[in-house]
Amino acid sequence: MAGDLYTKRRRLIQTLSVLVLLSIPFRFFCFDLDGECIRLFGAEFGLATMFYPLFGIVALLLLVVGMGMKKGRLFCSHLCPMHLFLEKVNRPKNGSASHRKGIVWLWSLLFSVMLTEVILSFFQPLENQIKLAASGNLPILGTGVALFGGFMFLFVGYQERFCKKGCPYALIQMLLQSDLTRTMKFANREKTCTNCRKCEDICPMNLRARFESKGPDCTNCNLCAEACTTELGKGNTLFHFHDPEPETAVQ
Ligand code: SF4
Ligand code: SF4
Repeated sequence: MAGDLYTKRRRLIQTLSVLVLLSIPFRFFCFDLDGECIRLFGAEFGLATMFYPLFGIVALLLLVVGMGMKKGRLFCSHLCPMHLFLEKVNRPKNGSASHRKGIVWLWSLLFSVMLTEVILSFFQPLENQIKLAASGNLPILGTGVALFGGFMFLFVGYQERFCKKGCPYALIQMLLQSDLTRTMKFANREKTCTNCRKCEDICPMNLRARFESKGPDCTNCNLCAEACTTELGKGNTLFHFHDPEPETAVQ
């Protein structure tokens, strides 16, 4: 039940983070070059105050990184678009190799267009982008092509390998995590594991969940625990979050 709540909360935060990203092309959150201000959901921050929202974003990121020391790779499983992409393309129903390839290209295109447009729109409204591109403006064309190409390269070519080896957050998390960081533990005391491998098929990080969920690449997304519940019946899972307690000093 606790896992259900965790997943619902994770889905809600993921949805909110996508909505914040999508609000940028609609100019609810953007840097208005003409007005020389940052717009944030109705509020305007001019030259003298525009660092307030930026400080707010940095504070939020520091909070997530700080929480990661205790709760694991929360940024990845709750906020990162790459994790959301991996969840979409790694669903077991996308099983056959050729079908998965098509799904990967489709979601890669969608995510690459979205993220490219989010970054461009932060500085230029869509109508300006179209006008500039139509007039052959090289900076906007070059930036757009470079961003789109870079995202496609990551989504199609690297996927979870980027999360494990290339993402700066993976390095930060690796440096900050300790023996007190939450891990996803596998315990098969009653020998009820049926070896169905649903936990492996669903893992966005392509981990052998039963053996690697305690490692630094696990994002604590809870999908393996859910898949196991599906296999073993309601309320039964062989995966559990483990929050280690600090050892108390012996007097
Ligand atoms: S091992 Fe489980 S919790 Fe960890 S990333 Fe894979 S599915 Fe998510
Ligand atoms: S989903 Fe559960 S039962 Fe199936 S292989 Fe994984 S741990 Fe075993």
